[in-house]
Amino acid sequence: MALKPLRLLALAALVAAAGAQAQTYPTKPITMIVPFAAGGPTDTVARTIGGAMQKSLGQTVLVENVGGAGGTLGAERVARAAPDGYPILLHHIGMSTAPALYRNLRFKPMEDFVPIGLVADVPMTMIARGNFPPNNFKEFLAYVKANKDKLSYANAGLGSASHLCGLLFMSRIETDFVTVPYKGTAPAMNDLLGGQVDFMCDQTTNTTGQIKGGKVKAYAVTSSTRVPSLPDLPTIAESGIPGFEVVVWHGVYAPKGTPKAVQDKLVAALQDALKDPTVKQRFNDLGTDPVPQSKATPEALAAQLKSEIAKWGPIIQKAGQYAD
Ligand code: ASP
Repeated sequence: MALKPLRLLALAALVAAAGAQAQTYPTKPITMIVPFAAGGPTDTVARTIGGAMQKSLGQTVLVENVGGAGGTLGAERVARAAPDGYPILLHHIGMSTAPALYRNLRFKPMEDFVPIGLVADVPMTMIARGNFPPNNFKEFLAYVKANKDKLSYANAGLGSASHLCGLLFMSRIETDFVTVPYKGTAPAMNDLLGGQVDFMCDQTTNTTGQIKGGKVKAYAVTSSTRVPSLPDLPTIAESGIPGFEVVVWHGVYAPKGTPKAVQDKLVAALQDALKDPTVKQRFNDLGTDPVPQSKATPEALAAQLKSEIAKWGPIIQKAGQYAD
């Protein structure tokens, strides 16, 4: 149906207003939604990068934690938000596993967002409560298999990285164990430290301090090579489960329809933040590296998301786990 002249004028005025707003953006604080609990690894990445992005944006970047349903609630919140650049999302690998895990996912990762760029790749560690009996990965494997009905594995819900790591681990060792979902691995870590749950697989950004402080037992890392800040930990792949690899990549997104001028400002701020020596140092201390500048781009994040959705879909289908 053809638009009447008055409607066309109103539409043109709206587009012009959005364009003008995009030029002056940002004029108020930006909210970075993190789809997991405060104090956890995704939150740590968000606060590190968001804190540095605010220097070039000239506005505060507030972090809001919207945990639950393995990260899908927070992502959905941003998918439905006004596309004006004020809500943005920092999410991880879960953005690519959710489509295979949730039969009724209420957002489309490839269609409902504009990508800003990749942030950092974070390895995971297999850890347990401090008084867990095994002392190395070999003993851990044998102990878990022998006691599977008595043990509990903490994760951040279906679709989280800790869920993915546990799912792959269970399928590779052909052993099922009871899983306990949390809104993030910060509360899961509290229960692990308190001995209410037995073990979990979580990002180095959450576990390095606890491992170095001797508060938890650590058995292995999930990357294909050892992590320089935790040199004594073997990889799971070198410890008898060849090819096992989970590295948690992170990206920044804005709702679909966010003006290109706003997207460009967010990309520039992300790239500046990744060059910031304090960001590099903080990531380095936590066992990870910020991505190179070439990956802090919309194109690199879009390509990563597409290839990871294609990679994890069949693996998850084979493992046979999903939710409605
Ligand atoms: N580490 C969590 C995960 O398993 C998320 C978090 O709490 O940041 O995905």
